[in-house]
Amino acid sequence: MNEPTRLHIAIDGPAAAGKTTVARATAQRLGILYLDTGAMYRALASMALRTGTEVDNGAALARLLAIAPIEVRLDDGAQLGFRISAGGREFDESELLSNEVTAIVSVVAAQPEVRAAMVGAQRRIAGKGSVVMAGRDIGTVVMPDAPVKIYLTASLPTRVERRRVQLQRSGVDVDGHRLAEEIEERDRLDRTRAVSPLTAAADAHVIDSSGIDAEKVVDAICAFVAEGAK
Ligand code: C5P
Repeated sequence: MNEPTRLHIAIDGPAAAGKTTVARATAQRLGILYLDTGAMYRALASMALRTGTEVDNGAALARLLAIAPIEVRLDDGAQLGFRISAGGREFDESELLSNEVTAIVSVVAAQPEVRAAMVGAQRRIAGKGSVVMAGRDIGTVVMPDAPVKIYLTASLPTRVERRRVQLQRSGVDVDGHRLAEEIEERDRLDRTRAVSPLTAAADAHVIDSSGIDAEKVVDAICAFVAEGAK
């Protein structure tokens, strides 16, 4: 299949709506790369924990990023579907999904200095070629010109179940997570922050994936891509 030039697909939505699974499967089907931007915010949250950096100190977090920039290498063969490292150390999935990181990531991500650095890095990745990018502000801020934008939602019970399965698969202790509360609190923080809050882009296709398996969602996204290519 000939890869169309710079096919950008933005997938946003609340926590545990299935964005990662759908984004990765869509990228595989289209033969293009995939990036879960949540992992970048989680990597910085993990660095903040390790260095004792205050999670609401945007300037200090930006300094951390300047000293040890987060590097993302798109690699379909990696456990996450890409490799993410900082200061020469690669992060693994269980570290990024840990309770400790999840508890602070939305506060870290709300800092304007952090968002400026992350959005810049994500745009540079998008500038290199075709990619399916998943996050909270991809269709609104990072790739506002993406021809295909998806806002993926699902009911809270569906999202709790999906997160439980993901954590178990990654070897993370599920008992330590209060899943429903954690998801709702993170969504609240992500929706109400001052800079690039979670919201559907005006031109996004809203898909409620409760009770629909990921393959069907990928079918729908590929249909939007095909429509746009006509
Ligand atoms: O997608 P995931 O649950 O891994 O994202 C973790 C957190 O990172 C989100 O709750 C949000 O605070 C932040 N995030 C963001 N913008 C993105 C992706 C993630 O603010 N594009």
